[in-house]
Order: sequence, then C-alpha cells, then structure tokens
Amino acid sequence: MTNKDIKKKKLPKVSGLAIAAIVFAVLALSATVILLMNKWELAMKLNGADIMHLEYGTSYKEEGATCVYTGTWLPFIRDEVEVTETGSVDDTKTGTYTLTYTADYKNEHAEMIRTVIIEDTQPPRIVLESDPDSYTPYNHEYEEEGFKAEDNYDGDLSEKVKAEEKDGKVYYTVSDSSGNTASVVRTINYDDRKGPVITLSGGDSVTVYVGDKFSHEWFAEDDVDGDLSEDVKITSDVDTSKPGEYTVTYTISDSHGNESVATKTVTVKEKPKNSDPPAGEGATTVYLTFDDGPSQYTEQLLGILDQYNVKATFFTTSAYPGYAYCMAKEAAAGHTVAVHTATHDYAYVYSSEDAYWADFNRQNAVIAEQTGIYSTMFRFPGGSSNTVSRSYNSGIMSRLTQQAANYGYQYFDWNVSSGDAGETTDTSVVYSNVVNGIAACARAGVPAVVLQHDTKGYSVAAVASIIEWGLENGYTFAALTPGSYAPHHGVNN
Ligand code: ZN
Repeated sequence: MTNKDIKKKKLPKVSGLAIAAIVFAVLALSATVILLMNKWELAMKLNGADIMHLEYGTSYKEEGATCVYTGTWLPFIRDEVEVTETGSVDDTKTGTYTLTYTADYKNEHAEMIRTVIIEDTQPPRIVLESDPDSYTPYNHEYEEEGFKAEDNYDGDLSEKVKAEEKDGKVYYTVSDSSGNTASVVRTINYDDRKGPVITLSGGDSVTVYVGDKFSHEWFAEDDVDGDLSEDVKITSDVDTSKPGEYTVTYTISDSHGNESVATKTVTVKEKPKNSDPPAGEGATTVYLTFDDGPSQYTEQLLGILDQYNVKATFFTTSAYPGYAYCMAKEAAAGHTVAVHTATHDYAYVYSSEDAYWADFNRQNAVIAEQTGIYSTMFRFPGGSSNTVSRSYNSGIMSRLTQQAANYGYQYFDWNVSSGDAGETTDTSVVYSNVVNGIAACARAGVPAVVLQHDTKGYSVAAVASIIEWGLENGYTFAALTPGSYAPHHGVNN
C-alpha cells in the first residue's frame, strides 16, 4: 500500500445520536458508582472543646453539640438530627465531670463525650496582724500577734496555718484542699523598752525609832537581763539619830539603757513614851500569857489568878463569842486584854494586809466593847515567825510588822512555850515545860513571856502549881504593858 492508499482510508462516521448515547452511558455509570460508594451516616460535632479546664469561680456554659444525617458521597444532603445530652456540671464544686451526647436516626447511632474539669489553682492568702507598738524582748520567745488565712474555695483556713519561729523570723504556711500552698514570713521586731522592776521589801515607806537601825532589802528584775539586784545604785540621807523624813533612792539601768527608779520614805520617830519598860521589870519577871480565849475555862483561870493575886495577859479571839463577857472580868481584875485574832483563820488573815487589819480591828472592837479601851498590844496568829502565811501572801509578815510599828502597836511573841498547843495534853508536862523555861530565861537575864492557852483545861490546871513554884523561887508575876519586854521570833516571810 502506498501512502495515498492510506490517505484514502476513511474513519467511520459518528453520528450526534451516538454521542448523546455515550454521554448518557457515562453519566449513568457515574451515578451508579456514586450510589454504590455512598454511605449514610450521623455526623456529630461538639461545640467547644471535648476536654475543658475551668477555674473555680467561673461558670460553665453548655454549648451543646450538632448532628446531621448525611452521605459520605452526597454531603449536600443534610438532615439535622436532635442531640440528647446526659450528665451535668456543678461548677460550685471542684471535680471532673463527664457529659454524654447521643443521637439516633434511621438505625444510625452517634455518641460523643466531653470532660469538664472544675479546678482551683488559686492559693490561699495569709494576712499577718501586727501591732506597731508591740515588740519581743531580746532572748524571749515571740508572742503571736495574730494572722488570718482565707481561701477562695475553702474559706477561712486560719486554724490550719502552721507557724514556725526560726532565726528571728516566723514562717507561716497553709495549703488549701486542692494542694495550693501559701507562705509568708514575719520578721520579729526585737527590742527592750522596759526598765527593770524594782521591789522593795516592806513597801515604799517605813518608820524607824530614833537610835534603831534602819535596814532594807531590794530586788531588781529585768525582762531581758534578769536579776540586777546587785547593780542597784542607792543614795540615802537617812539619819536615825534625828527624827525626820528621809528618802532612799534606788536606781538601776538595764543593758539597753532603760532606767528605773524607786524611792522609800523613811520616817525616823521618837520612841513612844509608853514603850518604856514597867518599873521593876527584870530577869525574874514572869509574864503569863493566855491565847485563843476566852472560853469555858477562862472563869476558872481568873479564879486561880485572883487567889494568888497574880496579873496575867490575855491575847483574845472571838472563837467562843458566848464567853466575850470574860474580857470585861479580865480587865476589871487588872489583867491585860490584848488582840490575838477574831477568826484565827490563817488563810483569811494572811491573805492580805487589808484582811489582817480588818480581822484585827474586829477583835479590837469586841475588846473595846467589853473593857472600854482599844488595845495597842497583840500577838500574831502563829507568832511573827510563822511560815504558814507564805502560802497565802509572800512577804506579808515583813509588811505587817512594819505597819504595826507605823500604827504604834506592839506585838509579843513568847520565849517560854508550855507545849499545850499540841505537843502535850498532860498537866504535869505543861508545868515542867513552863518552870524549866522560866528558869532558863532567868539564867539568860531576860523576863519570861510564857505561852499558854485558856482554851485547854489541862493547861489551866497547871497554873496554880506554876505560880506556887514561881513565888517560892523569887519570881514576880506581872501583866504585859505596851513597854514590856517583847520577845520577837524574827520574821520568816
Ligand atoms: Zn492562837
């Protein structure tokens, strides 16, 4: 074949109808393929994130979900489907909440979940209270001025705060229920602004008789430096040879320059006239004294004394008020009626100076009622050396003896004890205690002041023999006067 032959060969002629048929066939085939490949499904979409972190205090807003029924190859076909939501979020409580979204349509089922976490990431707040005027003395432990802790979620956490003092600072920490921790530091303000406290034994005033010795005791205690008593500087113009009012000044500074000053007024007085000893008083003088009455034995005792014409001294109480009339008889017979105590209640009389003098005055009023005169003579319950008063009021005996002197009162202890207060209930032992004691005083060159109790029958029963022994041995019995020899045991409190 030549090239011409080839050129002459004609392509078959295609008609318009055939083309249309072919296009249709192609389209039909495509539609069939699409329909075969397409899948119907429920397409669900959450509005908002599927895991949400929400700070406590902000409110949760449900945004929901949308769902359509659609074909994978035919997305333009969309039927909206209703979504059902289960579960809930309580945004007032921290925690993890799960919400479930479901949709059902034409046998198709769709389901999605959303996790909502309500969390507290804010730490509590600690607020320290502080008084600008307060400070901690050096070497002292810090005294808490106060603090508060508040949490946005847990509220008041003040009681959970831990405070630790270290190296001049206080470290406070507290955690809330979500584990958020707060801490603050306080710097302790150390200072020393107080001077030492000066204490003067016997108070800030004292009376001394001309010629007597003035003695005094002082203490100085500082909150930082401790006992500074030995460093107290004293200036004094006291001259006990001349009556007058004198001042003793006590000055002390602590190590930070805080100075304290105390003064004591010393009054030097002439001795009262009636403090002269009675004429004839000497080593053979015997003062019989009877405490705690009058009682049922007092009239009997008055009879014995009267029988020998011996004068004695009664330190009276109001223990047996029915026998108060005996005081009038005592005074009328020439005996001395003096104050012991109205109540004889140690816990009361030694609770304070006021209580002591109230009890004293109460008894003295009874004496005045019975005898017409108040007494300036007395005997302390338990004697001036008693230690029982320590448990009620420290130092009270020092102050009472001083005050008694200021008032012009004289107190009498004793230098012969009969033992009738408890050691013995035997009349013959009372007798021998007393006569031996009187003899010992005579040897020592001092009058005897004998302690007995007219509340004890066995003691009163010894009196006649004691007087007889005394008179036979050259002793003189007398009633105490304000100026009589007054043995003082010495104060122990
Ligand atoms: Zn007594």
